[in-house]
Amino acid sequence: MYVGRFAPTPSGPLHFGSLVTAVGSYCDARSKKGKWVVRLDDLDQERNVKGADSLILNTLDSYSLHWDGEPIYQSKQRSLYDGWRHKFVTELDVYPCACSRKKIREHSALIGDEWIYSGFCKTHTTKNKIIRSYRINLPQPCPVSIDDARLGLITDDLYKSSGDFVLFRPDGTLSYHLASIVDDYHCGINHVVRGEDLLLSSLRQAKIKNIMGQCNPKFLHLPLARNKEGQKLSKQNKAKSVDSNLASSTLFDALNFLSQEPPRELQTENTNDIMAWAVENWSIRNMRRKENNVTAGVAARSTHNQAD
Ligand SMILES: [Zn+2]
Repeated sequence: MYVGRFAPTPSGPLHFGSLVTAVGSYCDARSKKGKWVVRLDDLDQERNVKGADSLILNTLDSYSLHWDGEPIYQSKQRSLYDGWRHKFVTELDVYPCACSRKKIREHSALIGDEWIYSGFCKTHTTKNKIIRSYRINLPQPCPVSIDDARLGLITDDLYKSSGDFVLFRPDGTLSYHLASIVDDYHCGINHVVRGEDLLLSSLRQAKIKNIMGQCNPKFLHLPLARNKEGQKLSKQNKAKSVDSNLASSTLFDALNFLSQEPPRELQTENTNDIMAWAVENWSIRNMRRKENNVTAGVAARSTHNQAD
């Protein structure tokens, strides 16, 4: 059975970009008679905003994006992560890194928006230094592929596009990639629908799962909503939150953005009817046809800022 999820970070209310992801993942799951789970990615305490979780859930509800079961909070699953950390250490090639943020810049090359760490601590002792993170030791080259429902086959050399990325912190906190793998495994997630800014993250997760002999979920990366300056809509660049009073017209706009070609009269219908139409008529082919101006390669190199 199809099990999909929407995994917002509770760092503020939903904006149009995150709504597009919610609508896309909901339609893809429901059109295949699948389950749709909501998971709040609240591991990064510094980013959490009090009350944002209920704000997000209320918005989803008012947009008729109804999830299955109870929402899952990553922060309540810490014991799960502790068990898995041992597994990751055993099965992956891991090394300690003592580089401060400043040192990481010194020992990295900027490719696109991504700092590619040179692996300095692989060849220099970290003895008597404060360990700041644990990184994966990637082989060179490190080919990885995912088959995306919209973008097709994406192949990359992770060694070049990512470098040895961080797996966990010395206090045991798993990186976004690992926590996501653990959560998806325990919820039985077999379909991941997310924005194409997370392509690099998907490739990293796919590589980790390859090494550990696990199956990858099916991926669908959605086009990215951008502001007038061409930046991805995000909380950092102050994207406006979606208004529950304008749910019908905003849903209509989201479906249009996803090239679903909703009939004009739909925008004045109630949200239940709009989403019923959207599920019934969900078409990835429509999205493929209307090619987005962001190429996979560029998206794969955009910075991942831990917001799904
Ligand atoms: Zn280092």
